[in-house]
Amino acid sequence: MNSFAKPVVVMSKCLGFEACRYNGAIIQDPVVKKIAMHVQVVTVCPEVEIGLDIPRTALRIVMDQGNRLVQPSTKRDYTEEMKHFTVNFLESLGEVDGFILKSRSPSCAIKDAKVYAGWEQSPVIEKSAGLFGDEIIKRFDNLAVEDEGRLTNRDIRERFLIKLFTLAAFRSIKSTGLIRNLVEFQSKNKYLFMALHQKKQKELGYIVANHEKKQIHEVYAQYEHTLQELLAKPASRRSIINVLLHIMGYFSKQLGAKEKSYFLNMTEKYKHHQVPLSNLLVILRSWAIRFDEEYLLYQTLFEPYPEQLDEMMDSGKGRVLTNS
Ligand code: SF4
Repeated sequence: MNSFAKPVVVMSKCLGFEACRYNGAIIQDPVVKKIAMHVQVVTVCPEVEIGLDIPRTALRIVMDQGNRLVQPSTKRDYTEEMKHFTVNFLESLGEVDGFILKSRSPSCAIKDAKVYAGWEQSPVIEKSAGLFGDEIIKRFDNLAVEDEGRLTNRDIRERFLIKLFTLAAFRSIKSTGLIRNLVEFQSKNKYLFMALHQKKQKELGYIVANHEKKQIHEVYAQYEHTLQELLAKPASRRSIINVLLHIMGYFSKQLGAKEKSYFLNMTEKYKHHQVPLSNLLVILRSWAIRFDEEYLLYQTLFEPYPEQLDEMMDSGKGRVLTNS
């Protein structure tokens, strides 16, 4: 079993940590609960932090020369308090790899809080981030940021976890300041990065080679920036297949014609969404074990985050990296 750097994740406190919702409730979310077992959790309830009670009457966002956070029952406007708290909280936050925030909340949501035309009995005119979530999106766009609702989608969850654990691993080796650790990081992530973004993977290799003899901190800074670009978008199915075929090439002399043909057939099925990627990875991994390909066996492509996190989520379709 691989060892993983523990990501630091800020989570909305009502997601299983404290009964702090406006109605005094707590939300038991099995996905968040499972992820929390594998990360270092920092919890926050912005509404309680600005002095609101539990329970309290609900807040809402109203459009009034920008989004305002108001409590219609008391006619109070909490916009400035929430903005002030958010800036203080985020600026005092230590190093962090991701956020899991409560969906639909006028404070925590990252995209789907209702925005009303007025304080009371007025229509919803659009959806937006909550006031706390909005600042997180603005400041931490490069990190793994999701809400608990979207994490029920397997593809979104997987991309979130890959990003989260890759960023945490990078942060861990960056803290050593050693170039050899960066070389090893690049090496063990080679095929995962190729699958995610081949051009950026090559750029990372060039940065690590450091032909210009830059200072180590400059190399790390440049690498981090390019890594964030690599992790920004989901992989294409074609890019993943290229990597699978490349890995298959390791065994081309040892495999029989029927084995090769079976694998190519499975690859074709994967291309047409008929089998999951995990089926192909299992075959490749079994060949790496059989033919003792150590370099392949330490590739993160085969386990980019703790495999226990797959147990809750594998609904029979297995691991995927794409959004297609
Ligand atoms: S959604 Fe955010 S503000 Fe609302 S109860 Fe949960 S943690 Fe607190």
